[in-house]
Amino acid sequence: MVIQALRAGGLFDGTRARGPGMVLIRDGLIADVDTTGAAPPEGAELVDFGMDAWIVPGLIDTHVHLVFDAGDDPVSSLEEKDDDTLLVDMRRAAGRALRAGVTTVRDLGDRSYLALTLSQETSYWPHMHPHIVAAGPPITSPGGHCHFLGGEAWGHDELIAAVRERHERGCQVVKVMASGGKMTPGTFMHRPQYQTEDLRAVVDEAHRLGMTTAAHVHSSLAMAQVLDAGFDTLEHVSFYTEEGPRPTPALVDRIIGSGATMSLTLGNMPDVPRCADLAHCLRRLYPTWAALHRAGVPLTAGTDAGISRAKPHDVLPHAVEELAGPIGMTPVEALRAVTSVAAGACGLAGRKGCLMPGADADLVVIGGNPLTDLAALRALRCVFRAGHSIDRIGAPCW
Ligand SMILES: [Zn+2]
Repeated sequence: MVIQALRAGGLFDGTRARGPGMVLIRDGLIADVDTTGAAPPEGAELVDFGMDAWIVPGLIDTHVHLVFDAGDDPVSSLEEKDDDTLLVDMRRAAGRALRAGVTTVRDLGDRSYLALTLSQETSYWPHMHPHIVAAGPPITSPGGHCHFLGGEAWGHDELIAAVRERHERGCQVVKVMASGGKMTPGTFMHRPQYQTEDLRAVVDEAHRLGMTTAAHVHSSLAMAQVLDAGFDTLEHVSFYTEEGPRPTPALVDRIIGSGATMSLTLGNMPDVPRCADLAHCLRRLYPTWAALHRAGVPLTAGTDAGISRAKPHDVLPHAVEELAGPIGMTPVEALRAVTSVAAGACGLAGRKGCLMPGADADLVVIGGNPLTDLAALRALRCVFRAGHSIDRIGAPCW
């Protein structure tokens, strides 16, 4: 098997910046990372991207929906499509993410386990899609948030059966709608959907089966419940009460003591202005999210890609800039959030989000130093997925 040696002026290994160096790829995996200035091994195929280029791990979006089309009415559009049509559109959405350097996505809600179907395709054609960590249809109460995706379950026995079904099918993460959501009429963002003991049973069963757990939570009451239940990641984290977002010091302290990762809903295409409502909520939430960051709570960017025109499936690089802006991360911290920290949240630590021997060769080559300007993440030279190079037209990029 030929070794590829990718040389660049800077490397970010998922944790810290390394000097100029070379990433050696063999068989879809990173074989070595060399910063000694040594010559490439004999017989290796050297690709020198130049001293102005940087190599960073492929980016990880911890919250996407490949079934939603990032249009003006993604729910109606979903309901009009049969599963075959939907799958074709999902392949396109996944490809769009990959070409932006997003080499792993955690899909937190599909219909008919289609994201899982797609994830199984990637074992044959890894260069077609990002690696997909799939939840299947999100578990929700009858008539609850996103019930139209088919994941309704109520009461201890049905909930346990729902977790087991997802495990048997091959899902790696269990997603529960712990509060209502904006997309679903008849549900309320400030209200919980389940009892704490039922949520705890879901988490215990998922962990027993080796799966991670993610909770959709807007409601402050539901946030307290899912922290008690022991969920691995909280999605949205928007501290909703009947009056809108109202973070309290008590709930912030509980998050800090919990060990859970907060998957913040960030990322917006600059050409699509945020609606006034959302902009107002974010202004209330940014200072609290910044405080969580200062207190050392692990944060990732989960874009919720697909749910609106502002959030196409390649929006993640914009979310990274938001981590560094209003949330106050340094560029290194923002890069960690979308690489190594996100990999940990997805149950993929050491395999994704890092440049180290044995990790999957999912990486991006960018035309600038992301530590001085995170916008360099949008100046892509090349994306590698499982060692395959991908450029925007699908041909090798050198
Ligand atoms: Zn979502």
